[in-house]
Amino acid sequence: MKVQLIRNATMVVEYAGKKMLVDPMFSKKGALARGPMPAKDWNWKRNPNNELPLPVAEIIKDIDFMVLTHLHFDHWDKAAADALPKNIKIFVQDENDKKTITKSGFTNLEILTENSTFGDIKLSRTKAQHGKGFILNLAGQVAGIVLRHSSEKTLYIAADTVWYEEVEKTIAKFKPEVIVVNGGDNRFIIGDQLVMSKEDIYKTHQAAPKADIVVVHMEGVYHNTLSRKELRQFVDQKSIGENIIIPEDGETVSL
Ligand SMILES: [Zn+2]
Repeated sequence: MKVQLIRNATMVVEYAGKKMLVDPMFSKKGALARGPMPAKDWNWKRNPNNELPLPVAEIIKDIDFMVLTHLHFDHWDKAAADALPKNIKIFVQDENDKKTITKSGFTNLEILTENSTFGDIKLSRTKAQHGKGFILNLAGQVAGIVLRHSSEKTLYIAADTVWYEEVEKTIAKFKPEVIVVNGGDNRFIIGDQLVMSKEDIYKTHQAAPKADIVVVHMEGVYHNTLSRKELRQFVDQKSIGENIIIPEDGETVSL
């Protein structure tokens, strides 16, 4: 498989001969409205932090299907809705998200289950917990996904989740050889973390010590608090650096 990080959570994954687009946010730097409140460090600049590393036409070329883990502004935006063909196959997490995407004119939607398929690729929805404490109620529901195919390693895309028992159970059940986690340790001025912190990434590694862990969702939006550099230093100190891949925007990792 090939995992290409575009920016934030947006990825293009080549898997068993198919191309999957995950959580497209295509807005230009600073083009999105402000988030609901300032970040932990009072930073409240407009999202996203950076330009896309590639033209949109190049990113969406030959995409076979899409997965939307949830519809927060940093995972799905108007620029993506405008750019994508309305008949593209999209897996969404629930009826609510299906309704919202239908209103944007998309016609080929399917709710992701534990036993979904795209061609001969098996897709399984996994549980996610988008934060800790009261902030979790504001963040709402998110789906992760596991991809399986006889010619590929098992891939677990955990999506916007902190480390918690369901991530541990998913790893125990599917034994993924590749895990994509959303790092960045996003935090607003009030409330706890929204996605994985460096300690969460360490726990993920401990649960799957042989897996390659690809960390995305870093430095893309203003409330990221964990930088790639800080994470790299942390995993090297813990002597787990070999298993942790921290791609730059636009970088492709072959696994
Ligand atoms: Zn996010």
